[in-house]
Amino acid sequence: MIKAVRGTRDLLPPETETWNRVEAAARDVFRAYGFHEIRTPVFEETQLFARGVGEETDIVAKEMYTWEDRGRAASEKGQSLTLRPENTAGVVRAYIEHKLWERPGLQKLYYMGPQFRRERPQKGRYRQFYQIGAEVIGPPSAGSESPARDAEVLEMLAALLDRLGIRDWTLELNSVGCAHDRPVYNEALRKALGENVARMCADCQRRAETNPLRVLDCKVPEDQPMIAKLPRMIDFLDDACRAHFAEVQAILHSLAVPFVINPRLVRGLDYYRKTAFEFTHGALGAQNAILGGGRYDGLSEALGGPKAPGIGFAIGEDRLVLSLQAAEAAATAPLDAYLAPLGPGMNKEAARLARELRAQNLVVELGDESFRLKKSLETASKLGARYAVIVGENEVAAGAFAVKELSTGTQVMVARADLAHALAARG
Ligand code: AMP
Repeated sequence: MIKAVRGTRDLLPPETETWNRVEAAARDVFRAYGFHEIRTPVFEETQLFARGVGEETDIVAKEMYTWEDRGRAASEKGQSLTLRPENTAGVVRAYIEHKLWERPGLQKLYYMGPQFRRERPQKGRYRQFYQIGAEVIGPPSAGSESPARDAEVLEMLAALLDRLGIRDWTLELNSVGCAHDRPVYNEALRKALGENVARMCADCQRRAETNPLRVLDCKVPEDQPMIAKLPRMIDFLDDACRAHFAEVQAILHSLAVPFVINPRLVRGLDYYRKTAFEFTHGALGAQNAILGGGRYDGLSEALGGPKAPGIGFAIGEDRLVLSLQAAEAAATAPLDAYLAPLGPGMNKEAARLARELRAQNLVVELGDESFRLKKSLETASKLGARYAVIVGENEVAAGAFAVKELSTGTQVMVARADLAHALAARG
């Protein structure tokens, strides 16, 4: 039997109802904040991620699905292509390619779609997973560097989670500095790691050399006591970064958006500057980050574009759905009525009636004229229908139908004209 590939999965009803609800809520909220949708390709040139995410990151170093495309001629070497592991690099590439900075104001772009990382699959971690994300990007003259943008994005996320009914989230906030103060901090980290790093995991030893900030990302339990003693980036912020971080916090306070400072928070992507954040949710267990994001001043230039500071986030939709399921039973549309055609020629009568009822927004399921009444009623009960409606020759001729309430067994005759109203009535 051919099965879905490890780390991928089918999303089936009724769970897809929850996915649709999440996406609809996100679109509503994004619209209110002036965001518009962008759709970028699912695969890109490998170079984009190497430069835009960072060679030293786990994503680029270990987790990408990369292949060499066939060249046009047999002798021609193919391009290296990669399934996107995240969407920010693609959005910024599109921003540069289409000169979106020539449009007025800031670009506020959102996306929804699959991302691919070759991680070890577990609950809440998949190799094909889905992100809903957004970016605010533009020239500094349009206000893209302002801490007001960071606060706006964070408040929007709080509003989205609240709207979805996820209450017990925690916003963790940090500042990871900028091009001025990061080298000073990196040096302090290297020094603090010193000889101790020899006792840490192989990844940390490598990172201590190439990109010490990444050491803070280490998840190996034995390394944690060492990591807890390392210097904190927020103690090394230069004046501009410190003022930026203070203003973000002040706006959040005034908006009554709660947050905690987590000085160990770094993001898995290299391009983050200043504000970095995650929203976590207790119900998720080990993989408890529902979403993450931050500011990426400098990314556009790294990809060959103009100066275009930005801030963005990516929500793990798989995890958001898991959080929702923990908070409530998945909301399935209740089945209002099961139509039971009884006898030859009744399928088309039932189909006609179903069409009338569905047009009035009732959720209707159709049986089959080959079923006996007993089987129809059993099926209706199994599907959780509130009512079964019997569609027989006599009923059609009389213009009235037997309506059976399945929970009580009571049956009444209802005229065709009154049927939708009767079925919509909640007992
Ligand atoms: P990142 O792009 O790494 O900043 O991740 C942003 C969010 O995407 C995380 O907070 C997770 O909710 C989600 N995410 C990242 N990787 C995975 C994965 N392999 N499976 C499911 N969700 C993921």
